[in-house]
Amino acid sequence: MRTAPLPAGSKPKPTEELIYTELFDSILERRLPPDTKLGENLLAEHYGVSRTIIRQVLMRLAHDQLVKLEPHRGAFVASLTLDQAKQIYEAWRLTEAAIVRDVTRNITRKQVAALRSLVKEERLACEQRDVPRLSRLSAQFHIQLADLCQNKYLARFLKELIPQTSLAFFYEVQGMPICTKDEHSEILDQIASGDEEAAVHAAMRHLDGIESALNARASLNGNASLVDLLKSRSPSLR
Ligand SMILES: [Zn+2]
Repeated sequence: MRTAPLPAGSKPKPTEELIYTELFDSILERRLPPDTKLGENLLAEHYGVSRTIIRQVLMRLAHDQLVKLEPHRGAFVASLTLDQAKQIYEAWRLTEAAIVRDVTRNITRKQVAALRSLVKEERLACEQRDVPRLSRLSAQFHIQLADLCQNKYLARFLKELIPQTSLAFFYEVQGMPICTKDEHSEILDQIASGDEEAAVHAAMRHLDGIESALNARASLNGNASLVDLLKSRSPSLR
């Protein structure tokens, strides 16, 4: 945030925090695919900041495991092997089950209402075919559930894991509608009804569906590397 008045006509320089958030969101919204090169010079020029600031941002993203730093080659959006992608889904499934169980026991009406309005926003983004927004809101649904969990260790673990599922997404069937079944609203209905088993069942069905898309993609593409899969896509920075 700007603290001192700037000379007329000059734009405030984005802070490290803002650039971090923007790159983080770009990966979460799947606008920056795995293996996209994140050139220090290019980013410094794009944001009008020093390379030192860009380096700090890239190090933070590397700590989040969303960026890989390679000696002599620079920074890239992280990529996963299919096996790593599957491990992420396995960890997600186990954690999500525990979180949904916990949340079903403790959720308040007000919290249900907040989640319902999020699901409504998701539906709107889906109708408008706004995929970046939908990707972000879908992740937000799971993050918001994690935030309601009484076990803060589980919550923190899931919140670290969710952004990485955006990288796994690139193994899924491309162009598949991700929201036609309205599964978040089904999960929420079961949570609101207080039926732990039904809520966990709905959540597992949801994650199984996502993972089976991942398997389908893998079987379609045999040994294709992530880079090959993404060759036609180009990174777009706002
Ligand atoms: Zn979901």
